[in-house]
Amino acid sequence: MSVNVSMAAIPAAVTDFIHGSHQLLIDGRWIAASSEKTFSTRNPANGSILAQIASAEAADVDLAVAAARRAFEDGPWSRMTPAARAKLIWRLADALEAKAEEFAFIETLDNGKPLNDARIIDLPHSIEVLRYYAGWCTKLNGESVSLSNPGTWHAYTMREPVGVVGSITPWNAPLMMAVSKLAPALAAGCTVVLKPAEQTPLTALRLGQLILDIGFPDGVVNILTGFGETAGAAITAHPGVDKITFTGSTEVGRIIVKAAAGDFKRVTLELGGKTPVIVFPDADIDRAIEGAARSIFSNAGQICNAGSRLYAHRDVFDQLIEGVARRAGEFRVGNGLEASTQMGPVVSQEQLDRISGFIASGRSQGAQVRAGGGRIGSEGFFVQPTVLTGTRPDMDVVRQEIFGPVLCAMSYEEADLDRIAREANATSYGLGAVLWTKDLATAHKMAKKLKAGTVRVNGGGLDPALPFGGFKQSGWGRELGREGVEAYTELKSVAMAL
Ligand code: NDP
Repeated sequence: MSVNVSMAAIPAAVTDFIHGSHQLLIDGRWIAASSEKTFSTRNPANGSILAQIASAEAADVDLAVAAARRAFEDGPWSRMTPAARAKLIWRLADALEAKAEEFAFIETLDNGKPLNDARIIDLPHSIEVLRYYAGWCTKLNGESVSLSNPGTWHAYTMREPVGVVGSITPWNAPLMMAVSKLAPALAAGCTVVLKPAEQTPLTALRLGQLILDIGFPDGVVNILTGFGETAGAAITAHPGVDKITFTGSTEVGRIIVKAAAGDFKRVTLELGGKTPVIVFPDADIDRAIEGAARSIFSNAGQICNAGSRLYAHRDVFDQLIEGVARRAGEFRVGNGLEASTQMGPVVSQEQLDRISGFIASGRSQGAQVRAGGGRIGSEGFFVQPTVLTGTRPDMDVVRQEIFGPVLCAMSYEEADLDRIAREANATSYGLGAVLWTKDLATAHKMAKKLKAGTVRVNGGGLDPALPFGGFKQSGWGRELGREGVEAYTELKSVAMAL
């Protein structure tokens, strides 16, 4: 942990918000949970309680879904033109931009991530996603269809909003996740019941206030804080919900699919990952070292497409591991409010225990710890950036999503693309893959062979226009891009005899 502490001063608006009351947003009003129950959200940097939050249960879900249904069927939302919807979503982006600093602080306090990351990643991306989807409101076209028997009848398609959407989000990038679900749903003309993760509810609640302030009609966005097993399950099972969009663990994704099967709700899932980072001998090794380190240590490894499996050619393996292990030691771990912090705490004691358990299991199965491997301090939920070598495909650390700053490094003997792809693909996940090579042919051939929703070559980030999602057990459907908004529509075909 860093020694010279220069802690950013928390703005008064942030303290006021955190010390305020945190209720449920239903039908344009803040109300207490009908059970009057609350739960605590904690600051992962020291484990202290930040705020008490209303805990929604099935009765609150009924109210929120009814409000969303009214807004969708009869309310001003359904009568609003796409251009008017676009204007409101754009105004939300402007309002978020104006309060970006406030949101960045709230995110850091609630999630633990470095303030600088919140400032330069989470906030700009969230704002851009809103602006990107504001543009889609007026561009959701169908098409005229060329029929096999032209002249006797005419046909076209059109896109209609799917209806009331239940959005369930995780804690690793709370604001980004909430916005990634709200923006396309609203652009398509849907109404939303959003449940943020219990560990990190605060930025979603602050966003709810902006939504009210700028004049979204009542019931269009409802925000229910609470637990997955109660509020989340009630949303998923509710007959008034037409679609569920979920980001989180593959395990809960499976529960959601079962619950949604009863009435065939539309379902989009962004689930776990075990992204391979494949380094070829011709790669720019310095860039590959930096890229591999950032891919697994950013956000303390709590990213669904974190590069958690490193495969490097034997000619460059030692140099690469030495470099990544050195970077692991250099990464400044500390309170996200410290200016020098590059990696904050993980989100909770539970997550810290889970990561520590994986490291212990890797060790017991024969992995060697080349860097890190332990907890830092006893206050807060800090874990060292960790590099494991001697890992094998059958180990739990290689097979399962750890969701922490733990890299499993393996070497391969020959640049046999089919063999490398087979090994990289030997996982139940298929969210991302990263290649480091200067050879275009290798890059294109490997991009084709890898079973992953996103393949990055020599870097590259997240963009609202680029679809994101997974093959295999990493999910169903795509978020972002055109596919991301079309996922909130039903396609209707109209056929007309001439
Ligand atoms: P979960 O999948 O449990 O949580 C994600 C969201 O789902 C939260 O809002 C949660 O509510 C909600 N939820 C939980 N159970 C249900 C349910 N039965 N019905 C409806 N909603 C539900 O993730 P965890 O927080 O437990 O994290 C565990 C592991 O999941 C991590 O270690 C990581 O491996 C993986 N994960 C992956 C993510 C990704 O982006 N791919 C994101 C987060 C976690 P609540 O807040 O009450 O738990």
